[in-house]
Amino acid sequence: MIQAKHISKTYGTTNVLKDVSFSLAPTEIVSIIGPSGAGKTTLLHILGTLEHADVQSQTELIINGKAVNRLSDKALSAFRNESLGFVFQFHQLLPEFTAMENICMPAFIRGTSKREAEKKAMELLDFFELTNRAKHKPSELSGGEQQRISVARALINKPSLLLADEPSGNLDSVSADKLHDMFFRLRDTFSISMILVTHNKSLATRADRMLNLVDGQWN
Ligand code: ADP
Repeated sequence: MIQAKHISKTYGTTNVLKDVSFSLAPTEIVSIIGPSGAGKTTLLHILGTLEHADVQSQTELIINGKAVNRLSDKALSAFRNESLGFVFQFHQLLPEFTAMENICMPAFIRGTSKREAEKKAMELLDFFELTNRAKHKPSELSGGEQQRISVARALINKPSLLLADEPSGNLDSVSADKLHDMFFRLRDTFSISMILVTHNKSLATRADRMLNLVDGQWN
């Protein structure tokens, strides 16, 4: 699913990631923990092709058999839209659109018809127990509901990998537990792999593997 080798990242004179390697098997769920400033978000962004690693001859980043560090920006955008789903700490839903419209957005960007996108979105709303919230705008939803909508949005294009950065960092414990249960159910339903950056101990320890990043290196 992912083979990453010799990933380094430097901002100015700060060496944020120090020759990190990482691999992920199909349908595997890996959690990444570690102190603030350790480089977790930077690593997640590089694995999700949102940022580039430092250019080094030994660096390798293969996702779904594709050497993504060698793709053009245009090819990379298409790859990201088709293969990867992202969830952030703050849901980043568009406030003027309904839950249904927000979920459909990545499908529209990809050129899926309205009818097909809405059919998929209804299936996702059903999975996330939010069918009766389809026409609500984000401000009319609870924090837990907003975050489940943002996960549904990440899944609309049927990615093979979901990357989440502190997905429950902004939720109360009941909403967080419900979201965590759904991550594990959706792995079974959608055969998806996941990388979860989290400070939530209960989520981190439920993953198949838990990795600890300290000062830009695995500990
Ligand atoms: P974590 O997610 O583990 O808290 P980050 O990956 O967000 O860590 O950040 C690691 C370090 O890299 C921090 O010291 C942060 O200030 C620095 N950093 C992150 N992004 C940038 C950037 N775009 N420019 C400069 N420094 C950055």
